[in-house]
Amino acid sequence: MSGFPAFDYRNARLYGESVQLDRIAEEFGTPCYVYSRAALIAAYEEFDAAFAGRDHLVCYAVKANSNLAILNFFAPRGGGVDTVSGGELLRVLKAGGDPQKVVFSGVGKQPDEMRAALAAGILCFNVEAEPELVVLDRVAGEMNKIAPVSLRVNPDVDAKTHPYISTGLKENKFGIPFDEAERLYLSSREFANVRITGLDCHIGSQLTELDPFVEACGKILGLLDRLETQGLPIDHLDLGGGLGIRYAGESPPPARDYVAALCSAVGQRNQRILIEPGRALVGNAGVLLTRVAYLKHTPYRNFAIVDAAMNDLMRPALYDAYHEILPVIANRNDIKTYQIVGPVCETGDFLGHDRKLSLAQGDLLAIMSAGAYGMSMSSNYNTRPRAAEVMVDGDRIHLIRERESIEQLIAGEKILP
Ligand SMILES: *Cc1c(COP(=O)(O)O)cnc(C)c1O
Repeated sequence: MSGFPAFDYRNARLYGESVQLDRIAEEFGTPCYVYSRAALIAAYEEFDAAFAGRDHLVCYAVKANSNLAILNFFAPRGGGVDTVSGGELLRVLKAGGDPQKVVFSGVGKQPDEMRAALAAGILCFNVEAEPELVVLDRVAGEMNKIAPVSLRVNPDVDAKTHPYISTGLKENKFGIPFDEAERLYLSSREFANVRITGLDCHIGSQLTELDPFVEACGKILGLLDRLETQGLPIDHLDLGGGLGIRYAGESPPPARDYVAALCSAVGQRNQRILIEPGRALVGNAGVLLTRVAYLKHTPYRNFAIVDAAMNDLMRPALYDAYHEILPVIANRNDIKTYQIVGPVCETGDFLGHDRKLSLAQGDLLAIMSAGAYGMSMSSNYNTRPRAAEVMVDGDRIHLIRERESIEQLIAGEKILP
């Protein structure tokens, strides 16, 4: 048993749904991301169903994994998206997304991104500061449009997660300080080209407990009630994303418990509820396949040098994140403790430390839970073309992104005349 439902062993071979992962490596090479269609859809449906008839919108956070094939799953199921750039908006539209189900978050929206979103007719801008509201009002005015707005409020709640992915503390750059939000909401009525429609917060990522969500929700609801008393109606409450997944020992609450806790906090209020899950929808629906290039045994350490690296999967280098690493063909002959490292010229280029594995040159490994913040954070460091991406669906295999070529990678560069 792998512990990951979509990627499990049969006869000591690791499968993605009904496809042997070694077959994918043969056909498409390594490193290669592999996603399970069934796992993606099951994760979405669990969130969606948990609202049990309540007016809601599950807005997938595109930055977790922005492949068009993945974006294309949510719109036909009634889902929306949370975008953080003009580029993500373009992807969503290309994948057939409904602009009326797009929210636009982020601390540094540029006027051209605002124009694109206004032209598309998105559901809401999640505004993160007063000067942003000033610029949005001006841009909307120039286009003769009214921009629908939520203020993203920073509720000053400790998400108890890695400091780099905590966003709802007063010292973080995100959102409008809680104590200033009410004044800004009330003064926003003076902007002629924005219309307040919602209230938003997002406190961080990879949360494994419900308490911080419920605490943030409570503060936001207090603000909502004060605003409504003062004659400022709010149509929707956007409670952000951030629900964690199991990478190793964590036991995050299931999506249905998370949604139930939010719904129960909101109680009888009649606002539509938006959530913005990213990781919880795609994280455990993907793995990164990699092949052992060399084994190096030194007097101090055993290294397995694999063909995937920090440019393909940045999370270990960036957050010291743990990803389970499993052999594609299970073998218990000669178990040693390995450092699983990539070819990039950085000591921070590791995928796992101290893993007990039986390895030979040429073996395939699957780096688990790589569906979120894997490909979308990848880079070309060391002039490494980005990996291919494949989606399995039952026994079918679809290439959803070709492996990048060196030519594509240097295409925009110019030597001086
Ligand atoms: C990143 C992000 C999300 C998604 O976070 P996950 O932890 O992947 O669920 C949602 N909303 C906003 C504003 C974000 O920046």
